[in-house]
Amino acid sequence: MANDPITASVHDLINSTDPEAAKLLTLEGDRQETTLELIASENHASPTVMHAMGTCFTNKYAEGYPGARYYGGCEHHDEVERLAQDRAKELFGCAHANVQPHSGAQANAALFLALLKPGETFASLELSDGGHLSHGLKVNMSGKWFSPVHYPLIRDEASSGFETIDYDEAERVCMEHKPKLIMCGYSAYPRVIDFARFRAIADKCGALLHADIAHIAGLVATGVHPSPFPHCDVVTTTTHKTLRGPRGGLFLTNDDEMAKKFNRALFPGMQGGPLMHVIFAKAIAFGEALKPEFKSYQQQVVANARALAEAMIGCGYRITSGGTDNHLMLVDLQTRDADLTGADAEKWLEQAGIITNKNGIPNDPRPPKLTSGLRLGTPALTTRGMGETEMAEVAGLIDRVMDARGDDAKLAAVREDVRALCARFPLPSVGSTVGA
Ligand SMILES: *Cc1c(COP(=O)(O)O)cnc(C)c1O
Repeated sequence: MANDPITASVHDLINSTDPEAAKLLTLEGDRQETTLELIASENHASPTVMHAMGTCFTNKYAEGYPGARYYGGCEHHDEVERLAQDRAKELFGCAHANVQPHSGAQANAALFLALLKPGETFASLELSDGGHLSHGLKVNMSGKWFSPVHYPLIRDEASSGFETIDYDEAERVCMEHKPKLIMCGYSAYPRVIDFARFRAIADKCGALLHADIAHIAGLVATGVHPSPFPHCDVVTTTTHKTLRGPRGGLFLTNDDEMAKKFNRALFPGMQGGPLMHVIFAKAIAFGEALKPEFKSYQQQVVANARALAEAMIGCGYRITSGGTDNHLMLVDLQTRDADLTGADAEKWLEQAGIITNKNGIPNDPRPPKLTSGLRLGTPALTTRGMGETEMAEVAGLIDRVMDARGDDAKLAAVREDVRALCARFPLPSVGSTVGA
């Protein structure tokens, strides 16, 4: 916390009127400073982006879009939103951007409202294969009110593409079910997505093609992962994962009609007033992402993921699909120890100050509450300035936790080493160029 004078002064301000709340801010600041954040969907936004959210832009109702608002007093809000839109379009190389979705799942929900009628069919990857709950899980609106069909991963261990998307099978599934929309883009998929191949499938079966680049947006923006454009009709993303902006969603397209449909579906279809303080922070984050150092950051994220995967393999773990092309990997814990579950691993790692999430692996024999896998991602550690050398160190720490099997003294010893590593790589400070 002392690392960031603005947060410190915000803390003092809150503390002067509400010490109970201020204490929680201190605790969370310390937690983030002293733990290793390996959750693939998380990152540390720059202090500029974080503090941009705590501004007077939160006070305003700006329902509508720039130049067509339902409230007076929006002149600066129009400029802020246009700035965010223009930077998003430049960043992703497309013609239209809607910066108002409150989150990635909201953006996807608005997409369904815009493009599908209740009961219509769409194709996606199932959650248990690496998809997202907003891509047709039964308990989600997308699975309750629409009809998902799922394309699979390659299940044949002997195949070179084991555990990657089975594009031939995807084509067969889509030709059989003729979905109105095909979704690609995932939450736990470590390999490059072949958007051109999906385009060919969509053309063949007469579907619209949607990419949800929530996880890989930062990689896409810098050319470290191929772009969904020009192949995809519509694109949604979050802004807070690899893109390292404020928590939020974003919609992108090159198609005028798609843009109109989405804009109407999001407002007034789904949401009320936009979160203008978050849109202000999105504009700033997109500005950061347009700088050359953001590209070196993304390249380091991917280099770190490779180094971490190799080091984990060196410690006796299997990585699904044999490795990673992006910022994340799925570790198969069974290969290290047959009775090791993702749930135990996550709990023991947290005790040692290493923050991860248990995750099902393809064909996981265990239920989602236990799982046999661990998802690891490098965006947050890379933001702290860590490189390949530290990734080998992190793999060693993870392996010591697995060896300890819940032994409190051994976990406490790892916790101390995690603290020491974190102290060498403080969180981004005000004015610093983070992670590059
Ligand atoms: C994280 C994620 C989302 C949802 O984002 P929220 O901001 O949590 O709603 C949507 N799609 C994919 C593929 C994701 O990984």
